[in-house]
Amino acid sequence: MYFQDEPEHITMLRETLRRFVEAEAPRESVREWDRECRYPKDVFRKLADLGVCGLTVDESHGGSGRDIVAAVAVIEELCRKSTALAGPYIHCAFYGGLNISESGSPEQKSELLPRIVNGDVIFAYGLSEPDVGGELANVRTTARKSADGRKVIVNGTKRWCTAAKDSDYVLCLARSDADAPKYKNLSFILVPTDLPGITMTPIRHTSIRYAETTDTIFDDVEVPIENVLGGEEGWNKGWQMLAGPALDVEKLETAACALGIATAAVEDAWQYAQERKQFGGVISGHQAVRHALVDARTKLMACRHMLYHAAWLANENRPCAVETSMAKLFIADTTVEIVMSCQRVMGAYGLAEEYDMERYMRDIVCWPIVGGSSNMQRNNIAARLKLAS
Ligand SMILES: Cc1cc2nc3c(=O)[nH]c(=O)nc-3n(C[C@H](O)[C@H](O)[C@H](O)COP(=O)(O)OP(=O)(O)OC[C@H]3O[C@@H](n4cnc5c(N)ncnc54)[C@H](O)[C@@H]3O)c2cc1C
Repeated sequence: MYFQDEPEHITMLRETLRRFVEAEAPRESVREWDRECRYPKDVFRKLADLGVCGLTVDESHGGSGRDIVAAVAVIEELCRKSTALAGPYIHCAFYGGLNISESGSPEQKSELLPRIVNGDVIFAYGLSEPDVGGELANVRTTARKSADGRKVIVNGTKRWCTAAKDSDYVLCLARSDADAPKYKNLSFILVPTDLPGITMTPIRHTSIRYAETTDTIFDDVEVPIENVLGGEEGWNKGWQMLAGPALDVEKLETAACALGIATAAVEDAWQYAQERKQFGGVISGHQAVRHALVDARTKLMACRHMLYHAAWLANENRPCAVETSMAKLFIADTTVEIVMSCQRVMGAYGLAEEYDMERYMRDIVCWPIVGGSSNMQRNNIAARLKLAS
């Protein structure tokens, strides 16, 4: 893809979303949601009514057909204001829409996908655990079949289970076979959050506060065997599902969040620098400040190109594990630099609650960690490119 204009339907979608966000997410509300660590359910409902949750779902299940570039653009646009709407969008259209579309059984697809398109069902990711971060193949949460094989019993603790309290299901990665070799011993279980045996304990945190994140503890939680992602066929296939095409897109979704936040930071700093006067003129007149702002915009442009190139490859179903890892690595790390330098341009005011920069700073620092840390991306790229070790 060389130098094509953005497809018209995506440009129009961006314009619609900008108007929507302007009307539905005023600054004061965004601050309140951040303070209270929650997203506005009524506004998310209206967002879903725009049809955006169907961008990861095929037409036969009521969606608009898989359009990864458009779905990534939705995240970017929402994050230019805050993560408050991008968060639930991802939990619905990506955690739910993509995973069920790619790995769900026919019954799971017909039951859940139309509800996902309507924005009616939210999923939390239950991957991390107290002793498991990047090393997901070693999760300790267990899933075992009941004696008659009709139920699955889940035990263990999922950490950082963001929005579990707001979700209908936790998509729980569990060890389903004590004897099978690594990578062939995991399953994803769709665990409804209202079942007996589930408790949730909040983890206080500073970044991406669109929802509470929790330790979510499963104590002999029983679900029907049909709740294995992919149905019974999906038993012990969790790793393939995790490391499949959905992973490529997950890297893009986190990168899109970072790009949206960094874009907002550059715009705010750019404007502020032309208003703030020191030493007889606007601070954008000082060469050091001008250069900082231009460097930020240049890096932002590089991030944008990497993101949408990788999204295009993913949308075309081309191999893109390296490109999506490179995009995640570069964008997550570079947008931290961008936002930090924008904060410095705004001086003390870049740390004041009165300005949004303080929130961008808190929100940007999580992306080199979540969705596969920068080091994990480096490891993946080196392995994929067969760098001798
Ligand atoms: C706000 C927030 C929300 C989150 N939401 C969710 C969620 O909804 N669901 C979920 O499952 N998880 C969630 N997470 C957890 C997140 O995915 C993990 O933090 C992430 O996977 C990294 O794990 P860790 O923090 O335990 O780091 P660790 O894996 O312990 O790594 C710590 C450091 O060591 C480095 N490191 C580790 N191994 C290697 C290696 N082999 N080579 C080089 N460097 C290495 C890492 O890069 C990192 O810098 C969330 C985290 C945050 C902060």
